[in-house]
Amino acid sequence: MTIRTRIAPSPTGDPHVGTAYIALFNLCFARQHGGQFILRIEDTDRVRSTPESEQMILDSLRWLGLEWDEGPDVGGPHGPYRQSERGDIYAQYAKQLLDEGHAFKCYRTSEELDELREARKAAGMQLALKPADLALDEAEANRRASEGWPFVVRMKVPNDGVCVVSDMLRGSIEVEWAQVDAQILLKSDGMPTYHLANVVDDHLMGITHVLRGEEWINSAPKHQLLYEYFGWEMPQLCHMPLLRNPDKSKLSKRKNPTSINYYRRMGFLPQAVTNYLGRMGWSMPDEREKFSLTEMMEAFDVQRVSLGGPVFDLEKLTWLNGVYIREDLDDDGLLKALREWAFNEDYVKQILPQIRPRIETLAQATPLAGHFFSGLPELKEQDFDNVKLEKDELVKLLQFLVWRFEVVPAWHKEALLDEVKTLAGHFDLKMKAFLAPVFIAITGSSTSTSVMDAMAILGSDVTRARLRHAIEVLGGVSKKQAKRLEKEFRDL
Ligand code: GLU
Repeated sequence: MTIRTRIAPSPTGDPHVGTAYIALFNLCFARQHGGQFILRIEDTDRVRSTPESEQMILDSLRWLGLEWDEGPDVGGPHGPYRQSERGDIYAQYAKQLLDEGHAFKCYRTSEELDELREARKAAGMQLALKPADLALDEAEANRRASEGWPFVVRMKVPNDGVCVVSDMLRGSIEVEWAQVDAQILLKSDGMPTYHLANVVDDHLMGITHVLRGEEWINSAPKHQLLYEYFGWEMPQLCHMPLLRNPDKSKLSKRKNPTSINYYRRMGFLPQAVTNYLGRMGWSMPDEREKFSLTEMMEAFDVQRVSLGGPVFDLEKLTWLNGVYIREDLDDDGLLKALREWAFNEDYVKQILPQIRPRIETLAQATPLAGHFFSGLPELKEQDFDNVKLEKDELVKLLQFLVWRFEVVPAWHKEALLDEVKTLAGHFDLKMKAFLAPVFIAITGSSTSTSVMDAMAILGSDVTRARLRHAIEVLGGVSKKQAKRLEKEFRDL
């Protein structure tokens, strides 16, 4: 049997380090067994999926050296590798489940579903909705069907008993069926949900082992049941421990940069990032910290993955990156790395219009453009002394801006300007006054090139990291304060 693994990202945002981590382990597992590694795009969420995000995921994984054998860009015998192009396949399998009585059409409205859940909650029952809870009396069901009401297709699930799922690292995992609802398989627009598409594709693409994040454990019983309904053999499951912040909370962009773009823009070397991800819950047999991807593939043993939440620590990664630069790059190598990073025509050309209005001698280019070629600026609290805002208000302004920027769908100057205008209105400040502290946070100085352009060019990750850094310099936001701010932000 040829071992086949896959990474199945949903292209709904920045390319996440968690995706790279899971991709790395799937790749190593496949290569260790002389098998293949596939990339599949799970873009069934048509509202949140974007082609830009897909492209960024492909670029980032490739930048890290994680090459796939089959995928939407390289093709392969089991395509298409993008779920949005496989609609007919899912419809056919949903129909099979309906015909064989393993699934049913559900005409319930969202209000009715809320009521059903409320009633269960009030009665102190499990919230999972079962086929019997969702059933309508026959006349009503027929009426809704003949009037063409929208419906979803749901899978049938047992009411009680225990489902046992076996996991390569965790052994047997037991889940009470009572907690598992009659999962939607096809949405009312005919698109499949993750569960149906994932199972059908893993089967049709010949996937033998699924290494994925532990947040998917709860889905495993439904998947196992679907494999049984179809009469297919289920791939072996392996749920990997989630990456954590140093405070052990789940790695999230609110606390730490999670986008691979960030690490790239901040000047990390891909081989250092990949090496560091390989240290997440795994170690080389001789425990050495520095190893190449090839060495990891050769020595890989999934049983050496430890389940204690691996901590993704920026300081350690920075240390390792330094080791790579100093030990592995000679002057030519370093020059090449710098060129790839920022000293290249594409990037420098974006900067020139920014410095042109102010430049008098060529020697001023570097000081004028320094913030485009650096990481986090050296800031002190006193740098904000001239900003005419109380410190609390100042921190709030920067924090609100970070939160607005977290959800800007397309990062370009006009979109950023809209966000800034809206917030300036909220704080009752003129644009100039609003931007004064932002300017310092982003450029590290009170006179520089246009801050709006700088943010657009620096990109979402570096911009947000600099704003967050300024907040820290100003004393940070306590947990209590964060709660209050979040509430005010939600009501904006
Ligand atoms: N599309 C899912 C994700 O975004 C894939 C989960 C899985 O590997 O089954 O992580």
